[in-house]
Amino acid sequence: MKKTLLSLGLLAGLLGPAAPAARAWGVVGHRVITQVAVYELPTAMQAFYFRHLPELARLSTAPDERRGQDPQEGSRHFIRLDHYSEDNPFAKIPRTYDEAVEKFSADTLQKYGTLPWAVLDAKQQLVAAFRARDTVAIILRSAELSHYAADAFVPLHTTVNYDGQLTGQTGLLALWENQLPERFLKDYKLDGEESKVLKDPLAAIWLVLQNSYGFLTSTYDLEAKTSKGLKAQTKYTFSHRFGRTQRRYSDAFADAYEKEVGGMVAFRLKGASPLVASLWLTAWQEAGRPDLAQLLVPPKLSKEEKDHLTTQLKAWKANTLYQDQLLLALQKEKKSVDADEIKAAEGEAAPPPPPELVAPAAPKQKAPLTPAATAPPAKAKAKTKGPEGTNKQKATDFTW
Ligand SMILES: [Zn+2]
Repeated sequence: MKKTLLSLGLLAGLLGPAAPAARAWGVVGHRVITQVAVYELPTAMQAFYFRHLPELARLSTAPDERRGQDPQEGSRHFIRLDHYSEDNPFAKIPRTYDEAVEKFSADTLQKYGTLPWAVLDAKQQLVAAFRARDTVAIILRSAELSHYAADAFVPLHTTVNYDGQLTGQTGLLALWENQLPERFLKDYKLDGEESKVLKDPLAAIWLVLQNSYGFLTSTYDLEAKTSKGLKAQTKYTFSHRFGRTQRRYSDAFADAYEKEVGGMVAFRLKGASPLVASLWLTAWQEAGRPDLAQLLVPPKLSKEEKDHLTTQLKAWKANTLYQDQLLLALQKEKKSVDADEIKAAEGEAAPPPPPELVAPAAPKQKAPLTPAATAPPAKAKAKTKGPEGTNKQKATDFTW
């Protein structure tokens, strides 16, 4: 019986949502990105964010969870750039929401996605929360901002062919954003840059989208390359749920595809945390750098909390967060800690599934780390011309 439950749970986790509902990163990705972003904050912000890390990580998936209830929510998670122009949408779409509405209408933007402006909105709401010194709102808005900013790093969230459904590659989204991170997180290098104040947050978001769009060609082409010569029985895993047959890419296919994309997913996931931390920092700066210690009760981290933070920062820098079992996304929630100090956390997000349903148990010994995870994959070249009509923009070139 237990085995049945376990495999059903595992299945649910791996199958992800029904194909047409695009949800970036999944629970593991969003929570890891949010956790790592806390390590990248300046000291003046870090204690506050570290104290609230469990709520932040949990709430970072709330925007996906409310998509079923709020019809306006879905379009905040993507922007289907190639609807506007396949070759160079960046030359066609105005950067600001008001200009884009004037050119294309609010309905069109709603239909094809409002991701860049959702990030900016969330940032503005965080500025207001900081100004109001409202702890609950700061946590909520920071988690939302993390979610939308992280979504911008998923190439398939920038296209009308978001699940490979137009090219006979249906299921590609769940493969890319759920299956690959869950299978290979142990190899990802998560150490990263420190946050910095963004002079132009909207420009930073558009640059991320441009880079994401540039990865699309290889996302599809390498799926086709991996598929060559494979029979459907090898390529896919079939399951039956609620009277329906569902299909997902097999683990063997996921492993072969990961080799082909050469660290692309790791690179995009790792890139998200510095932007998230920088957006938090920018909002705090815009709000006049309020003293966050005044919002902490007690106002300082305890010795135990400080020790935990030190341990985690060390593990983050040494790329052993996974091996040291410090990633919250892979831990069972501790009920005692989760007697939510902030009420807004209640009912916002379902607890994450137990780690055995999400990822293999963390090995005791250090796993070899993939060098490719630190650099953009050589095989994944940008296809898209930038706004200046050049494709020389490197995927690593985040000039915030
Ligand atoms: Zn999302």
